[in-house]
Amino acid sequence: MADTLQHLSHLPDGFGMDGLDLTISGKPLRAIVDQAGSTPLFVYSKAAMDRRVAALRQALPADLEIHYAIKANPMPAVVNHMAGLVDGLDVASAGELRLALKAGTSPQDISFAGPGKTDDELRAAIEAGIVVNLESEGEMARLAGAAENLGARPKVAIRVNPEFELRRTGMQMGGGPRPFGVDEEQVPEMLGKLAGLPLDFTGFHIFAGSQVLDTDGLIACQKSTVDLALRLSAHAPDTVRSVNLGGGFGIPYFPGDKPIDLQRIGAALAGELQRARRELPKARFAIELGRYLVGEAGIYVTRIVDRKVSRGKTYLVTDGGLHHHLALSGNFGQVIRKNYPVMIGNLAGQAPAETVDIVGCLCTPLDRLGDAVALPRADVGDLVVVFQSGAYGLSASPQAFLSHDPPGELLL
Ligand SMILES: *Cc1c(COP(=O)(O)O)cnc(C)c1O
Repeated sequence: MADTLQHLSHLPDGFGMDGLDLTISGKPLRAIVDQAGSTPLFVYSKAAMDRRVAALRQALPADLEIHYAIKANPMPAVVNHMAGLVDGLDVASAGELRLALKAGTSPQDISFAGPGKTDDELRAAIEAGIVVNLESEGEMARLAGAAENLGARPKVAIRVNPEFELRRTGMQMGGGPRPFGVDEEQVPEMLGKLAGLPLDFTGFHIFAGSQVLDTDGLIACQKSTVDLALRLSAHAPDTVRSVNLGGGFGIPYFPGDKPIDLQRIGAALAGELQRARRELPKARFAIELGRYLVGEAGIYVTRIVDRKVSRGKTYLVTDGGLHHHLALSGNFGQVIRKNYPVMIGNLAGQAPAETVDIVGCLCTPLDRLGDAVALPRADVGDLVVVFQSGAYGLSASPQAFLSHDPPGELLL
């Protein structure tokens, strides 16, 4: 297996093999592609999502809520499935709010974070009755104005930009100057102003970063986050009823990446939560995860359209590319491009026979799916499967670039 999958030591949950086929939720890849009618295709496994949430429930304290951040994968079927597994949904736009409400999630379990919420979005949030995570004093004033006009008293939390930084994070979102959240040193004064506004204060939202594989770093960050929430609670105008501790749990993508140690994180969190509950007995505590819940549950399937040799280098040219999967090409926040795990999905288990480059169908040298990958000999018609593609794939890619048809998406 390690042979055909390069650096993934084993297939992620929800995937298996049947003869020469990779299987997803028990179905052979070629049957899935036939059913879909065309490639490229994203396929997501419900079983993988179920198992991931179950593993979290087993490892984390029972009274810690798990929220799904929709932006990781907003496919409506995925959002609906996740809504049935988790305790809340986090949205970052009016569009995601509509998805969350359509999934039947109760408004009190939906929170809205993100810089640059427009007046229309704030009104939609008030009308829906969800919790708004305030990113600035200006946003607080606009929300209060809208609330007054509507005769409402929306629930709010303050999103805090902590002073501490999450070490070795894929995408840093806290510490230093940030467009996200309110600097922690400004929060006490803002809470003083909030008390006089038609806003129902519920608590704090502290999200420090994303794609963290450093277990000790995550544990240290969670401790700092609880410390910060307790410090700020002394200035709260009302009982603290919610503390969102952020998340940032990463998944292994590249050679050398190791999964996080969920058991250790859970044990540390249990201690932190016990400490926090003594001071904030009325609060619900949550973590919010996107990538960790769905990232390993999805694959991107493309078909080889051409096989060519250029000055000694063999290229497999596929019908997919960065217009569907920007992160795979190395152009979504990465400094150096590294290979995602790939396999020939209709030659599963076959030993590698050659080293090839895999490219997409766009006329740009940026459109790379795999550099110097050892694979069994594959030809026109074979299926290139890219793992770890369930999060920040299609919705985080420039689909209009080169005007190809959109890929299919299936949840099995
Ligand atoms: C993007 C985002 C998330 C999800 O991050 P992942 O790395 O996918 O877990 C959670 N919360 C906020 C506020 C975000 O912006």
